[in-house]
Amino acid sequence: MTNSRPGLPFRRVESSFGFSLKVIVRSTLVALSLLVAVAVQGQTPSTTDTPEPPQVVAAGLAGLENDRGRGGASTGNMTYHNGAVQRAQKVYTIFWNPTATPFPSSYQATINQFVQDLNGSSYYAIASQYSDTTGNIGTAVSYGGTWLDTTNAIPNNPPTTTDIFNEMNRAKTANGWTSDSNSLFQVFTPSGYGTTTDYCGYHVLNNPAYGLILYPSNHTSGTCFPGGTYPNSNVIDAAINTFAHEILEAVTDPLGGGWYYLDYAGEIADLCNFTFGTRGSDGSNATLNGRKYLIQQEWSNASSGCVMSYAAQAAPTVTTGSASSIAKTTATLSGTVNPKGSSSTLYFDYGTSNSSGGYGRFGSSDATA
Ligand SMILES: [Zn+2]
Repeated sequence: MTNSRPGLPFRRVESSFGFSLKVIVRSTLVALSLLVAVAVQGQTPSTTDTPEPPQVVAAGLAGLENDRGRGGASTGNMTYHNGAVQRAQKVYTIFWNPTATPFPSSYQATINQFVQDLNGSSYYAIASQYSDTTGNIGTAVSYGGTWLDTTNAIPNNPPTTTDIFNEMNRAKTANGWTSDSNSLFQVFTPSGYGTTTDYCGYHVLNNPAYGLILYPSNHTSGTCFPGGTYPNSNVIDAAINTFAHEILEAVTDPLGGGWYYLDYAGEIADLCNFTFGTRGSDGSNATLNGRKYLIQQEWSNASSGCVMSYAAQAAPTVTTGSASSIAKTTATLSGTVNPKGSSSTLYFDYGTSNSSGGYGRFGSSDATA
């Protein structure tokens, strides 16, 4: 639980697309048949035989600051485990505060604003590189609403996952909220709860997804505060940082069969826990919809590292034209490639039949794109 490491590898690799033009020449260059194949790297979910994680009730723990890298000493790309993601996520906030200690001014409002500012951001788009069998996660996240509960007692300290589940259902009833597999209900508890735990928050593998964000504090074994200067306030920014952790994990791994590395503690946010990159003089490292935030980086398979943003690249287009000037040993082949801003290599494969193997090949240094 105290696998403390000074930092995590940050490695940015320029994305590139690999594609090929296959030109099949039949019957000794008498007739030409053109075949195009395009392969886009990094978009196909792997189908490894990694066992499913145990269906523990609470997963996706946001560990304490000294607990970063719980996935293990090594890091690596997220792998897909054949289950669902939340392709159109909708986030609700529930502020459970029956105690005499109210949340600070702007706590609820700023946290709710954060969800709305996430929508369409390049930060949230980090999730859009991940997919399930139906398609990729969208770049939009919906804000479902918020509820301040000053009435119902919190039965345990820390509240159990059953307590959180029951509070979610009270919120749904009180507000007429419906839910589905895209829903995430995040419950925020007030000061004094969970201060001896080894986590700052978690999401539960469930349909609908729900979870807990503790009121940020210094715990007995670590802290939930990022440290340094804060763009909003120490507790607001620390809570939003944990919230960002859980939102990005719930959207990519809502039920435990989505994307993670090694085990359930190695989800997209875990490998970058409390990794912030460059911060401005105001302490922020992100500007979303014009507002400043301090939120951890998230794992990007496209970069094999922790990043603050992601922009999907358009797939390249490839077309081939007719062969011309066909002679006994020569022919003119034509093709058009639009790499859509990606670095690219292209080549023609050619042979005397459609059968696989045995093609000749000439590459981009010989071809005009
Ligand atoms: Zn986590």
